[in-house]
Amino acid sequence: MSQTVWNFSAGPAVLPRPVLEQAAAEMLDWHGSGMSVMEMSHRGPQFMQILQEALDDFRELMAVPLTHKILFMQGGAIGQNAIVPLNLLQGHESAAFVKSGSWSSKTIKEFARYGRADVVADAREIKDSSGLRPANTYVPAIAPGSIPAGSAYLHYCSNETIDGVEFRQAPDMPSLGCASVPLVADASSNILSRPMDVAAHGLIYGGAQKNIGPAGLTFVIIREDLLDRARPDCPSAFSYRQVYDNHSMYNTPPTYSIYIAGLVFKWLKAQGGVAAMAEINRRKAQLLYDTIDGSGLYINRVRPSDRSLMNVPFMLREEALNTEFLSLAAERGLLQLKGHKSVGGMRASIYNAMPLAGVEALVDFMLTFEKERA
Ligand code: PMP
Repeated sequence: MSQTVWNFSAGPAVLPRPVLEQAAAEMLDWHGSGMSVMEMSHRGPQFMQILQEALDDFRELMAVPLTHKILFMQGGAIGQNAIVPLNLLQGHESAAFVKSGSWSSKTIKEFARYGRADVVADAREIKDSSGLRPANTYVPAIAPGSIPAGSAYLHYCSNETIDGVEFRQAPDMPSLGCASVPLVADASSNILSRPMDVAAHGLIYGGAQKNIGPAGLTFVIIREDLLDRARPDCPSAFSYRQVYDNHSMYNTPPTYSIYIAGLVFKWLKAQGGVAAMAEINRRKAQLLYDTIDGSGLYINRVRPSDRSLMNVPFMLREEALNTEFLSLAAERGLLQLKGHKSVGGMRASIYNAMPLAGVEALVDFMLTFEKERA
């Protein structure tokens, strides 16, 4: 089947075509078992093999050190907004947060049900050398010494999917004067898109439905010593210790999502792994940002050094053209480009599974659309 559309959805998002083809071929009969993976017992040897390979491949791709455990859970990243405090707050009253956009704001709001949220950096509207910089268009700096002693952890969102703001580097806890405070990242939308210093983090979590596989699976990478900080009221199914001790099968796991994630991991390894993806992702994003910056019609307000390589929001200077842009794009097979309602305009999500050819097709359309309206 030929490629007919390019899907720029923010998530659930495009999956690598070879993965879908393999899943289709194996749908009714996985490796001669006579069963679909969906029909298998999660405790049987076949699924146990699928799960173990997925965990091992994810560890290899992310270079997860042995100090850290990988858990597969459910409940999504929004679930983790509650699950993290339930698991890490014992003996603490507060945690510290970087507020860089919509998703970190949501995390902070949820945390307030469990403890005191100290916002130590906030990307509010500021005046800088480029003029007025709108809120949530940059990574705010954390002042050394601003993280209260006794914080259970420092949370940040490594890529703000809605606002298109990405941390190039994780907050450096030692230089902020709090090397002993665990660093927690919501990496839902840039996991596996580039190498990440896992050892610098106490915990990294996210939903699978962008760079990993279908919705329904949540990944957690956690430093071993943090498995035992749960509050007594933490539900068993969401207790990191319980999930770890039960090999990510305390309750029935999302088996099919794990199977597809495993195929995506194998595909990523065949592409050369995360470092190779990072180089392709950088080229894709640069092509799109160069097109936006070079045009008189399109605009992206994010500080250039903090622009996301995964989610590229852009506005049309003439907003009246939005609907026409979207419908003509769809006619060309360029789909799901409408921006998030809180930001407006357009958003192109260009995760690992979006090839350079898809971004080239989008750029070609954008240039033609602008020229025809000049
Ligand atoms: N955090 C980030 C950065 C996200 O992009 C998303 C989903 N778009 C979420 C959290 C929420 O994830 P879920 O719907 O899986 O709970």
